[in-house]
Amino acid sequence: MYIIDAHLDLAMNAMEWNRDLRNPVAELRVREKGMTDKPDRSRNTVSLPALREAKAGLVVATQIARYVRKGSALPGWNSPEQAWAQSQAQIAWYQTMVDAGEMLQITDTESLEKQIKTWEDHSVPDHGKPIGFILSLEGADSLVKISYLEKAYAYGLRALGPAHYGEGRYAGGSGTEAGFNVSGKSLLKEMDSLHMILDITHLTDQGFKEALDIYKGPIWASHHNCRALVNNQRQLTDDQIRVLIERGAVIGGAMDAWMLTDGWIRGVSLPKAMGASLNRLIDHYDHICQIAGNANHIAIGSDLDGAFGTEQSPFDLDTIADLQKLPDLLSQRGYEKSDVKQIMHGNWLRFLKSAWK
Ligand SMILES: [Zn+2]
Repeated sequence: MYIIDAHLDLAMNAMEWNRDLRNPVAELRVREKGMTDKPDRSRNTVSLPALREAKAGLVVATQIARYVRKGSALPGWNSPEQAWAQSQAQIAWYQTMVDAGEMLQITDTESLEKQIKTWEDHSVPDHGKPIGFILSLEGADSLVKISYLEKAYAYGLRALGPAHYGEGRYAGGSGTEAGFNVSGKSLLKEMDSLHMILDITHLTDQGFKEALDIYKGPIWASHHNCRALVNNQRQLTDDQIRVLIERGAVIGGAMDAWMLTDGWIRGVSLPKAMGASLNRLIDHYDHICQIAGNANHIAIGSDLDGAFGTEQSPFDLDTIADLQKLPDLLSQRGYEKSDVKQIMHGNWLRFLKSAWK
């Protein structure tokens, strides 16, 4: 059964971690042996061959580049212009992967349906199929001015999460309390006029409320779990989940271990000792299904290799190919076959078809 994963920072891995994602995960790990510049070296879980093994025929792939003010504790670029240039390096990488036949950009219903057919065709082996990707921007800092959104739309940007971690140029992100500023509200209106998908992941509670009021178009939460299970502002409250369900949103379950199990201490806790398994993700799924009364609003938004590796991923996942363990795990937890299909790809597919109709 093919998978849609709605959150992968593929180009960030290529351009900032210097990973040639055409290689198998094992080879990338060998290449990084002994490197200490990032905490997740040699522990990566994602590559294009591993995505094919995962049957991830379609992913939402990000551009991501933060702007930071002098004195910020977060890593980032010192000007929006530099952040934009970094995001353009990332789009250039995606384009070279398209040229190489490794990936295929999906921007509308027609290209979407064609790509789904490719992955549903079992007469062709998966290892020869391109990974389809929908381009999303995580954090809007790199949009130097709002007019840059139109440039980005022209090269295929279809979704945008206005914030990431920290104070953003348009809206406050995780770890802050701020909502949208004046430009942020104009950005939302501009997105609306382009019929883009608004990703509410990483907005603050204030930002969430404002976005739901202002935005008229399709909304998803690309990589997001439940605050009732892991109490942190980065997660969704039950009320927020209810509002999202009413708006027809789909919530992608994230696999960053600290978002799965309560009490995680970054850099100290270990997945196995904390019981961070794929089954913990299903606890979050269950919680959302209880609120919704169905399994129509949960899906995959793994965020694997989003600046963390196996040290902070479910312990029963070695590479992203192990997402194929989910159908059995879901069945064991009582999910019907039709629900499993919805979770693996059907819910994202329904959402996209409705957003782009
Ligand atoms: Zn994120």
